[in-house]
Amino acid sequence: MDVRVSGVRKEFDRFPALHDVSLDINSGELIALLGPSGSGKTTLLRLIAGLETPTEGKVFFGDEDASLKSVQERNVGFVFQHYALFRHMTVIDNVGFGLKVRPGSSRPSKDEIRRRSSELLDFVQLSGLEKRYPAQLSGGQRQRVALARAMAIEPRVLLLDEPFGALDAKVRKELRRWLREIHDKTKHTTVFVTHDQDEALELADRVVVMSQGRIEQIGTPDEVYDRPNSPFVYSFIGESSSIGVQIKNGELRLDGQALSISSDRPDGEALLYFRPHDVDLIEDSNGGIAGTVVASRRVGATRRIELRIAGVTDHVEIEIPADHPATETSRIAFRPKHWRVFPKS
Ligand code: ADP
Ligand code: MG
Repeated sequence: MDVRVSGVRKEFDRFPALHDVSLDINSGELIALLGPSGSGKTTLLRLIAGLETPTEGKVFFGDEDASLKSVQERNVGFVFQHYALFRHMTVIDNVGFGLKVRPGSSRPSKDEIRRRSSELLDFVQLSGLEKRYPAQLSGGQRQRVALARAMAIEPRVLLLDEPFGALDAKVRKELRRWLREIHDKTKHTTVFVTHDQDEALELADRVVVMSQGRIEQIGTPDEVYDRPNSPFVYSFIGESSSIGVQIKNGELRLDGQALSISSDRPDGEALLYFRPHDVDLIEDSNGGIAGTVVASRRVGATRRIELRIAGVTDHVEIEIPADHPATETSRIAFRPKHWRVFPKS
């Protein structure tokens, strides 16, 4: 294992930005920290970098307590959302900067720095732009220079804080694929911060879902999408619908009617979660969930409808084939193909 965050709490003027965060990052892994704004992603990254110190808990690099190392000794590569390139330096000098400022004995020669910098520029597909200044590059090119600069120091871990956050959607998507390819070649241990679930699911080996300073779930993209372990993760990753139900003798009931869904949770009120697109339409009388269409709109290849369901306060959304004949006031019954049941909080 490369980096271990162990029981970390971080307060800013008594405000807890991180509660009790523990995370093992394996060597060569690409981890995404995913969560809404304010959930503590940047704070966690800065703690790993040594730019913040934990109020409680520790960060380890390998077996070593990282608090004994300065920011420079930690040897991390950092890329921020807002291009932090040096405006007065050419592209190639930007890439070589981290090597040039190394203390005497560990500083490569000028020629060596130049050689390594052009190699990296070639690697991030920016050969030919060595002599340009940051102002003469597109946003996407600047972030590629920033990544080359972060990699130049051969960092123990690469920390990327919403590096594509300021770019438009198309460029973001391209850079996402590009970063995954780069990672597959270099296998740098990488922590990538994003609030964009698609970005996290497409890029990462493992996703760390954060909310309000806590880790909600850690898992592969498939695990957090298919088996979310809380209502927060269910609704934050992908789309979700939920319905208030009752559990009685291990069976779910809706407005007194038994659904053919069992649960090992204790009797009482609960919430049934499922994905709107992941349902089968059925005949009304079959232990499914029946409702009246109150709104219907075409969304690309499918039709998204809102149902009013007896005994349920909020409307419930499901997706049906675009050519389904249902109109407003039609009655429709469905059964989720996959679901999870959570206690009602
Ligand atoms: P994210 O990167 O997920 O948006 P942050 O880690 O930046 O979240 O922030 C988490 C919480 O900690 C937020 O409520 C933020 O306002 C607070 N916070 C972060 N840095 C500081 C700071 N230097 N001083 C005070 N509060 C901070
Ligand atoms: Mg942030």
